[in-house]
Amino acid sequence: MSGGPFYDRVALIGLGLIASSMFWAIRRAGLAGEVTGFARSAATRETARRIGLCDRVCDSAAEAVDGADLVVLAVPVGAMGDMAAAIAPALKPGATLSDVGSVKRHVIDAVAPHLPEGVHFVPGHPLAGTEHSGPESGFAELFDNRWCLLVPVDGTPPEPVARLRAFWEGMGAHVEEMEADHHDLVLAVTSHAPHLIAYTMVGVADDLRRVTDSEVIKYSAAGFRDFTRIAASDPTMWRDVFLTNKDATLEILGRFTEELFALQRAIRTGDGELLFDYFTHTRAIRRGIIEAGQDTDAPDFGRAKVTR
Ligand code: NAP
Repeated sequence: MSGGPFYDRVALIGLGLIASSMFWAIRRAGLAGEVTGFARSAATRETARRIGLCDRVCDSAAEAVDGADLVVLAVPVGAMGDMAAAIAPALKPGATLSDVGSVKRHVIDAVAPHLPEGVHFVPGHPLAGTEHSGPESGFAELFDNRWCLLVPVDGTPPEPVARLRAFWEGMGAHVEEMEADHHDLVLAVTSHAPHLIAYTMVGVADDLRRVTDSEVIKYSAAGFRDFTRIAASDPTMWRDVFLTNKDATLEILGRFTEELFALQRAIRTGDGELLFDYFTHTRAIRRGIIEAGQDTDAPDFGRAKVTR
């Protein structure tokens, strides 16, 4: 399945960073006929209309999904279940319902019970984002060369999965299928725990700022600045991630704490060999990420300016 368009009509529910990036990527490659959109607040719908985000912005979710061949839930993980309940009666038989939530087991448990017969549920998660949110933060290149994980539920026929895969590939992503619990554990390591650590580090530095005046901000160029970028991520999204991927995140944080204690002891006892070996190993992991094309070796993390 190549080329496209893959769907006559796509509905994007929630119009933030991810949905708006999807819209620009869909347009860039001509992957769908009409794209409708819905956001809960009038202000977001108004912004979307002003910037030309979606062919048609609807005032209700049911109106947006009416006749859609693909519906994508792009709201915070904790809101997926209610949103699925709201749109379920309006879903077209044979349609595919997907989502972009950062946690998969919770979304499946919250959404699946609402779905009518004949609707194919293919949960997804693009591993791409920035610390910005809202309809104006999206750009067509967000998914280029990034992974999108699809987590089909049992009994889903192969065609809707293959079509959604081709659709994401058309948006620039590499696609892989993964089981939900495995997804949640992998993401706890690669994304959820690191975000919590960044939030914590910035919180600690902020406490310290009271002692050091404004020096923490002024001299932040070293490692701290990159923590602040991650810790500027959307509070609603991340609250929901931790509340819904509780077990895996706690498991990884337990292991993190053990490693931290080991390094703490090495510093206290002057065990330079342990520190050197540890940092040599972590440096190799960084090289592996660059070799896999998931970041560049450029200074400042190679963050190029992107355009819509
Ligand atoms: P965002 O920019 O903050 O946009 C969220 C959208 O959801 C907005 O349109 C917002 O509507 C709507 N919304 C918020 N709370 C809602 C509620 N209780 N009920 C209904 N709608 C609600 O978020 P995003 O970054 O696009 O994230 C969307 C999804 O993608 C989340 O599930 C997140 O886990 C996942 N994701 C995010 C990233 C990332 O790095 N940002 C990466 C991969 C996946 P209003 O504007 O009207 O308030």
